[in-house]
Amino acid sequence: MKKLILGGRAIITGRGSIAELGNIQAGRAFIVTGGSAMQTSGIIAKLEAILQAAGCVTCVYGGIGKNPDTQAVLDGLASMRNFRPDVLVAVGGGSPIDAAKVMALFYDYPELDFACAQTAELPQARKQLQFVAIPSTSGTGTEVTRAAVITFRELELKIGLKTPAFIPDLAILDADITMTMPDNVVAETGMDALTHAVECYINRNADDVSAVLAKGATAGLFAWLPVSYQERTIESREKVHHYQCMAGLAFDNTGLGMAHGISHALGGKFNLGHGLLNAIALPYVLAYNAQDPVVDGRLAELAQSIGRQGGSAFIAAVKELNRQLAIPASLAEAGITCAALEEDFAGLVENCLKGSTRANPVPVTAGQMAEILKHMH
Ligand code: NDP
Ligand code: MN
Repeated sequence: MKKLILGGRAIITGRGSIAELGNIQAGRAFIVTGGSAMQTSGIIAKLEAILQAAGCVTCVYGGIGKNPDTQAVLDGLASMRNFRPDVLVAVGGGSPIDAAKVMALFYDYPELDFACAQTAELPQARKQLQFVAIPSTSGTGTEVTRAAVITFRELELKIGLKTPAFIPDLAILDADITMTMPDNVVAETGMDALTHAVECYINRNADDVSAVLAKGATAGLFAWLPVSYQERTIESREKVHHYQCMAGLAFDNTGLGMAHGISHALGGKFNLGHGLLNAIALPYVLAYNAQDPVVDGRLAELAQSIGRQGGSAFIAAVKELNRQLAIPASLAEAGITCAALEEDFAGLVENCLKGSTRANPVPVTAGQMAEILKHMH
């Protein structure tokens, strides 16, 4: 038996849909965001105006950067406790939304901390606090998933914490706010979404519902991500925004695979973007996984959905898409030197075998992982 969580999520889509925040029944709104993008584009001011018009007192907490770590969450939590909100609105990329997910849970359960979050079962539901997520990148799907990825600096590792309590009460998919994404963010976050769809589709846990979503998202992203990158039209941004959410709904029930395992280890060590690392890893990981005829067959099905034939044609298409999006072809091109990669290489290999790699459809040994990393470099 497998319990799917698809329903129970409220998702509002459409241009201008951030205005729906005005219907929130709350008195004090704590707005969590990233570095500066949402302030610069004027979105924070708009959200504050919408909430204030609805009678809410607002407090903005910014500065949650890339690969948010445990300290970033605890700092935000302290500020949140001072303000005492009844709704948390997370707006930005996956980094601030994930940090906000954990802040929200710890706020409701003051007895929780990161030590027990890693070892014990997390509570399955939030208590009082309402939680709204408004993604400004098109990639992570975090607005609909039960995962929050946090960097544990002392372990040089990103860990995906999971509980249905992390699923926002409301996700607002307003593509207007994605229009300011720089080209590399469009490319990297889009490839994150594609990696979710593909790792879901070839996962051993794949079920019929997840498979339909994952295949649809794969085809949709292949069709629209290049348009979103090159032409920057609202239509294409909206399509990619929806397909990345579909990929999130898909993988939330299956788990991911080795591309994410590698990306979480490299991201924890080198602080590079999550989507960028996935994009670089994906073709290498698929080539390794395609040794298994079952996986090769699944990749052939994905190939068919984009008008190609055969598993290897699908891998070639992923490489082509990376090139179209100006994604570096190797870790070296992404700025990781040989010396940096080799420093505590055994520790890195060990970290790459953790997390999502455990859900990889083909088992992988330390020796094989070392080879994959060397190829990627
Ligand atoms: P980030 O949230 O790290 O944002 C990347 C960059 O994009 C930042 O510099 C940010 O600027 C900028 N940015 C975001 N939105 C806009 C915009 N609309 N206009 C201009 N600039 C913008 O990137 P991702 O969205 O890729 O999130 C990655 C994180 O999500 C990783 O930590 C990853 O592990 C996690 N993740 C979580 C999943 C889950 O299910 N929970 C699934 C997959 C990934 P600024 O900082 O100024 O806002
Ligand atoms: Mn991801």
